[in-house]
Amino acid sequence: MSDKPKKGLDRRDLIMASLATVGAAAALAANAGSAAAQESTAPSAGATSGEPRGTVYTGEAIQGKKVVSALDVNDLEPGQKHLLYFQGVQMPTGQHWYVSVTVARGAKPGKRVVLVSGVHGDEMSSVHTVLTVMNQLDPAEMSGTVMAVTDVSRPAMEGMQRRWPNSGRGADLIDMNREWPGNENGFTAPSRHAGLLFNRLFRPNADAAIDFHTGTSGFEVSAFNIASMDVPEIRAMVELYPVGQVFDNHTYPGVLHNAFVDAGIPSFCPEVGAARVLDLEMIPLFVEGTMNVLKHYGILAGPMGRTGKDVDVFIGNSAFPVLATEGGFVEHLVKLNDKVEAGQKVAIQRNGFGEVVAEYTSAVAGEIAGQRSDVPSEPGDPLAFILFDKAGPEGGETYPE
Ligand SMILES: [Zn+2]
Repeated sequence: MSDKPKKGLDRRDLIMASLATVGAAAALAANAGSAAAQESTAPSAGATSGEPRGTVYTGEAIQGKKVVSALDVNDLEPGQKHLLYFQGVQMPTGQHWYVSVTVARGAKPGKRVVLVSGVHGDEMSSVHTVLTVMNQLDPAEMSGTVMAVTDVSRPAMEGMQRRWPNSGRGADLIDMNREWPGNENGFTAPSRHAGLLFNRLFRPNADAAIDFHTGTSGFEVSAFNIASMDVPEIRAMVELYPVGQVFDNHTYPGVLHNAFVDAGIPSFCPEVGAARVLDLEMIPLFVEGTMNVLKHYGILAGPMGRTGKDVDVFIGNSAFPVLATEGGFVEHLVKLNDKVEAGQKVAIQRNGFGEVVAEYTSAVAGEIAGQRSDVPSEPGDPLAFILFDKAGPEGGETYPE
């Protein structure tokens, strides 16, 4: 029984299948309909190009904040903080989703760093990390610009859930971190929203970008960074975080930090603990690392804080998922960040009579990077992810975000 989670399983196929059950039909529909969608819309000139287009004010203000539909941070007055709303995708009511944009434009010119949170709607520690960094910035003392966008997937955030509720083809939930770089003429609201943000807000204003996440509701993670450590500019940033785990993996297309990388902008993805809550122990580590990155780019002056050199960092290129094989109530036998050996029992599961129906072991030696926090589990649910170093060629993998 203890071998069930790993026996004869291709874990990537399994995970992808479970994650993609909602998305697969939408993807097929989108492929079939994209040509028609292109013909039937009348995009504004250059709508899908990533060329700089300057700042476009819509002329509106919301709660005292000016609204832009395109932004070039160089158009903003130096030495100040600017609070704007960016006009995102249009809703069925005809109104738009607006996202919050804070720009700290330094008094002197320099590099431009973009900080993002809220691509998933239930990841509050990522929002708090970005806001904490922004609150520490004094534009009068800065050389360069930091732009924060904290609530990317607005309807998901309003519902405190991971995915974007979409009604275009019947009730649907779309994972916005599989949509980047998006398509302004795409088949769904999240695809269009991603395209608008990427083309008109993110890419034109980024010399480097960091997309902050956490675990998801029901599944918490340790503090770690997901990064392609073979890219020197990315590695240089990640090594500035006093954070104990790095998932060195290219993961897969569609995630925001990979869209930045594909556009030639170094980027990675910090993971800041559990969803829904503020992890006030982990957040300061990511704030400190991000302030280090701003010093690394010369935007801020002053000495570096703690970095990866000040903590034990475990780097793994793979994440082994322990999947439930039975329905029942799960009890973990290890904690986040614990080191485990191959064959070590990591969880048991009981039925409604208290009988043990499954015992789960790790097939690899590594460190616990994620654990299911919801106790009831059905077959196929990931119960734990174990960060480890896999020999041989690396492939894109799913990961606990
Ligand atoms: Zn996320």
